[in-house]
This record gives sequence, structure tokens and C-alpha cells, in this order.
Amino acid sequence: MSNYIRPEFASLEPYVPGEQPAGKTYVKLNTNESPFPPAPGVRERAAKAAEGLNLYNDPDSRELTKKTAEHFGLSPECVLMTSGSDEILNFAFITFCGKDRPAVFPDVTYGFYKVFANVNLVPYEEIPVKDDLSIDYRDYLGIGKTIFIANPNAPTGKALPLNEIEEIVKSNPDNVVVIDEAYIDFGGESSVALVKKYDNVLVTQTFSKSRSMAGARLGMGIGSKELITSLNTVKFSMNPYNVNSMTAAAGLATLENPEYTAKNVAAIVKNREYTTEKLRELGFEVSDSSTNFVFAKHPEISGEEIYLSLREKGILVRHFTPQKIKDYNRISIGTREQMEALITALKEITEEYYEISDN
Ligand code: PMP
Repeated sequence: MSNYIRPEFASLEPYVPGEQPAGKTYVKLNTNESPFPPAPGVRERAAKAAEGLNLYNDPDSRELTKKTAEHFGLSPECVLMTSGSDEILNFAFITFCGKDRPAVFPDVTYGFYKVFANVNLVPYEEIPVKDDLSIDYRDYLGIGKTIFIANPNAPTGKALPLNEIEEIVKSNPDNVVVIDEAYIDFGGESSVALVKKYDNVLVTQTFSKSRSMAGARLGMGIGSKELITSLNTVKFSMNPYNVNSMTAAAGLATLENPEYTAKNVAAIVKNREYTTEKLRELGFEVSDSSTNFVFAKHPEISGEEIYLSLREKGILVRHFTPQKIKDYNRISIGTREQMEALITALKEITEEYYEISDN
């Protein structure tokens, strides 16, 4: 570590993204990407936009913002487009949290919240999830801090019902409640409906999962005009041209083809049910998921061993090390063929394990 780094960052622990392997081809079920290509027309529109790369892009992404707002039945002043939803989440930490305005989030959730808090020098509290790893909404009532909740939550895949989110929002009128809906298209009820009723809700969504655009980096914040104006002040103080013109064009082409997204979501949900059932047959504990991944644990084989054995067999899943979730693996849902490959590999791994234990 350089002596020049500011002292507060000397021990900063950065976010560790899931592995993006080079060389060997894996069945890649570790970063919750879509297994399906971008919508028809995306490539052509992005290529067309590339012709104008000598010019700066529209810092307000007006066309895309308008189309996104229409998609949600809101006015464009209620939408801010960002470079992935990670960027809007970071903007939310910068805009709505601070030394005297701490953040709060569950102890089992998207690992980036803690990193955003640390890098922005925001104090934070982590509230333990229940024994079944679900969030108890009552823990957040009247808490008086800026709340970050992923709904459905990651990596558990569990969703809170809208009425419980609304209770949290209602009971914290002086604080912003950020609902991270990266996985909402795969299950659960969206809180976008609350944006019309409350001025303290910010919903974040992404083009990375259901919309097959992870590599283009496109996300958004949806909230009251006041919240979006404040977030824009921060955006224009940091990165005015945050959504590049090729990504904006790709986003528009994607939104113009909602049937394609819906078809892919339906396929993922079907494959998720297939995978859940097969995993349970193999003895895994798998709770019902509202996302494009499942969170699974074996009663006897450790999470790490399963992760490593799968890796050996050319299948990547995501393993986390925190104590509460170290027995689990988060498995992204891919195509039917990918999920069959996973089940075949896990069948071998479990059979080998029991053979060895019998000897
Ligand atoms: N929120 C959650 C809960 C996530 O799992 C992810 C994906 N890593 C994100 C937000 C950010 O995704 P992106 O920046 O690609 O929109």
C-alpha cells in the first residue's frame, strides 16, 4: 500500500466481484448474468451510436430517461440513469448519508453496501437477519437512518411483501429508504408504486439481469422529483457523462422489445423451479427464490468443498466466506442445458462424498 493513500483508506476492503475467467470455458453461474444475448437490435443500435463517439454523449440521457420513465408510468424528472445500478447506489450513499446520517442494512445482503459506506466515510449499522436468513421489516420501523434493502435480497433470494416495505417507508419520513430491485423482474412486488405516494423512497433497478446488458453498465434510480434532483446534483459533481452513448442506444433498443425480456424471464423462472426441485432431490436445502439465482446448502458437504469441486468440473458458482452464509453457494440460473450440467456435476460430487464416507 502506498504511503500516499489517505489514511482512512489504508485498510479499505474493496468489493470483490465474482470471477470473470479468461482462458478456460466454464459453465458460468457465479455472477447472476443473463445466459441470453442482448435483445434483437441492440448490437446495431450500439454500433450506430459508435459512429458518433467523437462527440460527448447527452449528459441527461434524455431519450432513454423518457423511455424508462414511460415504462414505469412516471415523469422523466423521477428517473436518473446511471452506469449500472452500482452507480446509483453509490450516489445514494453520497447524497443521503453522512457523518450524522448513518446508513443501515441487513447483515446478510449485497456486499457492496458496506463498501460504499466505507469509501464514503459513512457510519453504518448492520441488522441481523432472522435464523432463516429473511429480513424482519419490524427491525427497520422508525429507525431514523438511511435504509438500504435489496428486495428481493441477495444472496438469499428472499423477498419482502410490498406492504412491509411501505410500513418501513411510512415510519421513516425523515429518511430515505432505498429499495434495490436488481432482481425484481424474477419475483416479488416492485416498490415503484410507492414512489408515487412517498417522497422518501428511491427504487434502483438494472439492465444487468433480466435485460441481458451486464457488460454495458446501465442502471437507474426511480424516486420523487426532489430525490432525483438531489442525486443529479451529485452526479453532475462527479460524472456528468455517466451513461455512454452506445449503452444508452442499447438500453433504448432493449426497452423497445419488452416481449424479449419477458420471454427470457419466464425461461429463467422455469429453470429456477427445475433447479430447485433437482437440488432438493439431491438433499440440498434450498429456499424458494424470487430471483435469477438460488441459495443452496448441503447438510453434510461444506459450501467451500462444493464450490471447489464444481470449479474442478468446469462450473463456477459463488461462494461467500462470512460465517452466517459460508455453508451456502449462490447459483445463478442459466439455460436448461447449463442447469442440467450443474445437477449432473452435483450428483457426482454427492455420490463421491457418500462413497468416501462409507469406506
Ligand atoms: N444490487 C444487487 C443486489 C446486486 O446483486 C447487484 C449485482 N452485483 C447490483 C445491485 C449491481 O448490479 P449492476 O451494477 O450491474 O446494475
